[in-house]
Amino acid sequence: KDFRNTIKPNWCPACGDFSVQAAIQRAAANQGIEPHELAVVSGIGCSGRLSGYINAFGLHGIHGRALPIAQGLKMANRDLNVIATGGDGDGFAIGMGHTVHSIRRNIDVTYVVMDNQIYGLTKGQTSPRSAAGFVTKSTPGGAIEPSLKPLEVALSSGATFVAQSFSSDLKELTAIIEAGMQHKGFSFINVFSPCVTYNKVNTYDWFKENLTKLADIENYDHTDRQMAMKTVMEHEGLVTGIIYEDTETTSYQEKVIGYNETPLVHADIHLQEEQLNNLMKEFM
Ligand code: SF4
Repeated sequence: KDFRNTIKPNWCPACGDFSVQAAIQRAAANQGIEPHELAVVSGIGCSGRLSGYINAFGLHGIHGRALPIAQGLKMANRDLNVIATGGDGDGFAIGMGHTVHSIRRNIDVTYVVMDNQIYGLTKGQTSPRSAAGFVTKSTPGGAIEPSLKPLEVALSSGATFVAQSFSSDLKELTAIIEAGMQHKGFSFINVFSPCVTYNKVNTYDWFKENLTKLADIENYDHTDRQMAMKTVMEHEGLVTGIIYEDTETTSYQEKVIGYNETPLVHADIHLQEEQLNNLMKEFM
């Protein structure tokens, strides 16, 4: 199965988003699904271009709104594997409400955030993930707000799958996206995806020096939410691997009456004229 298409990405050379694209393509291929069984929905930002670079159903949505579209797709057609993608500005600023509610709702969608701690498409402004003191053209004196902590937000919002990876580690990133796709519920995956053009602080080298793999932490148990939260806080969010997974909680769609019958996308929803007229009368 080939999830590559012929469109050449117009990301800057060495942008972290290339690896996320490759990891999604490999993760999908490894699962033996066909391109028509995958939908990739993106928001706005450099990361938003990703949906056009994968041989699958793709929808480049609107800023911060990839998740509502992705959830609607999954509810209408349970046969689709649905991946939503976006950046930290997209998902943690304008889209933060959707992020939190998607997490607690637990619909079977995989959400991959390309976290580069800056707004890249608009040429380098401070984002919700920029650290305090971060100097950009929008905060020339240094950011005075602390950085948002997405892993803590996800864990405290009831997430059933939380993971984090790094663009430089394609093997781990692919494995995590695969695990997220297999998870029967909402999977939240934050990926450190360096913006080589505008972020000169959080570089590949900076992450290599500062990240800790959970696999290297003795007796780490990714089924223990408290341990997950404690570990994330102790490492100031700079960990990679599957941070938490709960396989017991039922997904949203499995609780919806009728979901397991004919998917909406295949149902005969054409109304006869009389039915339509009666329906219209109810609204008049
Ligand atoms: Fe990637 Fe930054 Fe270039 Fe955007 S501006 S394509 S995030 S390196």
